[in-house]
Amino acid sequence: MPVKRKNRGRSKGRGKKGRSGFVFCSNCGRRIPEDKAIKRVVWVPTVPGAVARELEKQGTFVPRKREVRYYCVSCAIHFGVARIRARDERKELPEEMLSKRFKI
Ligand SMILES: [Zn+2]
Repeated sequence: MPVKRKNRGRSKGRGKKGRSGFVFCSNCGRRIPEDKAIKRVVWVPTVPGAVARELEKQGTFVPRKREVRYYCVSCAIHFGVARIRARDERKELPEEMLSKRFKI
């Protein structure tokens, strides 16, 4: 069966690893496999954004907290965390295959 992606959108491997755990999307709350989720680590200021910016302007140290965010594919695409890539960007194809597919 032809597949869109070599890893089928996950980092689990074929047949070796078996099942993987689940995480919840930090935006919509959807339950997604851990290896499929898009993981981002962000450093969030402990005070609200506007206040933090004002304090930093005055030269105050604003402590930041490390936060791990998981996104489901739909949310990641919607918020620009991950982007849809073209076929030749996504796959490593030999030159002659590319030219055959995209003949103008
Ligand atoms: Zn989501």
